[in-house]
Amino acid sequence: MPSDPLEADPMRFCLLASGSKGNCLWIEEGGVAIIIDNGLSLSELKSRVKKRNLDFKSLAAVFLTHEHSDHMSGVGVLCRAYGLTLHTSPLTLNAAYDGIGKVDFSPIVSGETVKIGPLVVSAFSSSHDSVDSQVYVIRGSNSSLGMATDLGVVTHLVRQNFLSLTALVLEFNHDLKMLLKGPYPLFLKQRVRSRRGHLSNADASVFLSQVNHSGLKLVVLSHLSETNNDPLLALSAAKEAISKGPGKPKIQAANQWEPTPVFEI
Ligand SMILES: [Zn+2]
Ligand SMILES: [Zn+2]
Repeated sequence: MPSDPLEADPMRFCLLASGSKGNCLWIEEGGVAIIIDNGLSLSELKSRVKKRNLDFKSLAAVFLTHEHSDHMSGVGVLCRAYGLTLHTSPLTLNAAYDGIGKVDFSPIVSGETVKIGPLVVSAFSSSHDSVDSQVYVIRGSNSSLGMATDLGVVTHLVRQNFLSLTALVLEFNHDLKMLLKGPYPLFLKQRVRSRRGHLSNADASVFLSQVNHSGLKLVVLSHLSETNNDPLLALSAAKEAISKGPGKPKIQAANQWEPTPVFEI
């Protein structure tokens, strides 16, 4: 690793999948990569990694936000296939153990930090209907990325730690009108809207306007519902949120079926 941070490689990241059918975020710097969440089968993950010219040889660790299957179902297989350590809350591993199986495990709890090569990963508790949901902030040599999906509400803790980052992966789950008029049964509508459910476009926009700053370069809208959202609505809500500045980040939406481009920050 270069000793002068100005000579360091940029951080790069790619949402290999995003949504209720599977999530996977790849982050790398200086030839060291991590994955946060994997709801893809190993063969699908391999094909998406290849499609974006990423290299499994650089993969050094796996993190898991929470035990829901769209984030967890491919984690155990991935860790065993490449001999990787899983970093997550002990409560989450316990809740997900039937789905993950035996893996090399290193606990990370809210407020703690783990260093993987040049990447420093910090975990913070978040509000969601799982045992110990976490969001992550990843700092590299010259840039930083915050990843917050599956949030019922934005807590003070999450907001404070997302204030001055270079890029954000933020949940824009649903359009409230589409959810209310849509086909979900009442109990599911209530679950999604609850303080331990998912962020609406309007909620996420408020969060974005609170953490927007002049150094914010990129926001990737994630975990969009295919039933209760329209990417155009999410994009327009996010653009409206940043219109008053001070930052003018690029805005992109991730989806379920195609990996995003590999972003450099
Ligand atoms: Zn999810
Ligand atoms: Zn979830």
